[in-house]
Amino acid sequence: MNPIYRDMPTTIFEAMSMRARETGAINLGQGFPDGPINQQVIVMACDAMHHRSNQYPPMVGLPELREAVAGWYARHQALDLNPAEVVVTSGATEAIAAALLALISPGDEVLLFQPLYDAYLPLVQRAGGTARIVDMDRTRWRIDRDSLASAIGPRTRLLVFNDPMNPMSTCAHPDDLALLARTCLDHDLIAVCDEVWEALVYDGAPHRSLMQQPGMRERTVKIGSAGKIFGLTGWKLGWMCAAPPIARVLAKAHQFLTFTSPPHLQWAVAEGLDTQDAWIAAARDEHQASRDFFCAGLQALGLATLPSAATYFVTVDLAASGLVLDDIAFCEQILARAGVAAIPISAFYAESAPTHLVRFCFAKHRSTLQTALDGLARALPVLR
Ligand code: PMP
Ligand code: GLN
Repeated sequence: MNPIYRDMPTTIFEAMSMRARETGAINLGQGFPDGPINQQVIVMACDAMHHRSNQYPPMVGLPELREAVAGWYARHQALDLNPAEVVVTSGATEAIAAALLALISPGDEVLLFQPLYDAYLPLVQRAGGTARIVDMDRTRWRIDRDSLASAIGPRTRLLVFNDPMNPMSTCAHPDDLALLARTCLDHDLIAVCDEVWEALVYDGAPHRSLMQQPGMRERTVKIGSAGKIFGLTGWKLGWMCAAPPIARVLAKAHQFLTFTSPPHLQWAVAEGLDTQDAWIAAARDEHQASRDFFCAGLQALGLATLPSAATYFVTVDLAASGLVLDDIAFCEQILARAGVAAIPISAFYAESAPTHLVRFCFAKHRSTLQTALDGLARALPVLR
């Protein structure tokens, strides 16, 4: 049995969702929205299921979707992708797996930035790579130039970068993007960029892709997810974009993972990307309003929130809130006493985890958020 999997705990998202289901708690753990959910793409998927094909689509994706992804990035991120550079996958998770399997040879070293999305480390290891972990600074979540330089060696081939970042809800600083680009050029690295949260950047800020940096067009794999753009996380439809020599290798890995993804979902997402810009912008504004509502509620309870510039999440600093419990104990306590599930940030660390931070998902109806706040208000006096 592969020890990577034998000794691995169930992911924190599944574990907390299971606990929430068992206890009837409000699930502010795993990131999925109550809304807004794009009804138009659901109607289009049903229509395609009834009236178009239910058979295997092309391995790299339907031409309509590959064109729509390229068009969407041209409009929103000024990228000049050719549809042939887009490979459709079953969620961003499959894209990450395919990219790492395709680009890592046994013994290669891969730079990962901590906190890290939980899939990266086991996938790097399973692909035969050795992870070199770069700790981001723990107040502004910036990349330290010296830590980055000291993690690079002669076997370093790749870096994996998540921006906007889950869990800290930050957008990369332009200087950090420039630093990463220069590092990739100087050391001949490929950047695998997990940008699934690109459509959920708040306060009027643009999303900047590492692929836009000078020299990065030819050495970036840019990964996206329709689940996040349309509020349909269960659809598991994503894509990876890269220059042709890389895209060809990515497609080879994808062909033996899932080979292809449901055609009706692909048609629907293609039409959605072509026609739903106004809805996507309105959904973003609605999430921003939920963020503001929930953060104000947390602050009124004396909980210190970190800035949330993107994603469905906000993080509470327990120590700064006068709470001495560690993140796991706090999550256990609020599950039992407040009926609220959350995620301990230590789950996003492979080593030397901070234990004073807890992530909450605010992508829920106001009434649900209010019930969660009421539960926390009851529990907090006992926890302080
Ligand atoms: N990467 C990050 C950073 C995520 O937060 C998520 C899910 N929220 C994924 C990848 C997985 O995306 P998908 O559901 O499309 O597989
Ligand atoms: N990305 C989601 C989150 O951060 C969870 C996805 C999953 O459960 N694998 O909550």
